[in-house]
Amino acid sequence: MDCIFCKIIEGSIPSKKVFENERIVAFHDIQPAAPVHILVIPKKHIPTMNDVTAEDDALIAELFAVARQIAQEQGIAESGYRLVNNVGSEGGQVVYHLHLHVLGGAKLKGLN
Ligand code: C5P
Repeated sequence: MDCIFCKIIEGSIPSKKVFENERIVAFHDIQPAAPVHILVIPKKHIPTMNDVTAEDDALIAELFAVARQIAQEQGIAESGYRLVNNVGSEGGQVVYHLHLHVLGGAKLKGLN
């Protein structure tokens, strides 16, 4: 499959991983938009949030649990951070493999 995140999961494209289990991988974004910028992705290839079904409920819950754990480990849980999921072209999605951005380590600008 021609998906850059699937290649990161299988290891054919290198990444700086901070977490991995049977279902989820997290790694540093190559173009960080904040001092802490980590992507949390399911190993299952789900293109966008629009493709999530009820069958994925536990997986999505775990994605958020891993993001919460990473925020703790990175030391940004107490100061605050942002979880972002871009959906589709107008949402700014570039990589069509579901991912949560964990952003923090500085005062983030408001969304509007
Ligand atoms: O939400 P969106 O699809 O725009 O985000 C994709 C993210 O994946 C970008 O922040 C980009 O820097 C990151 N990326 C990465 N490693 C790659 C390719 C993209 O961290 N090899």
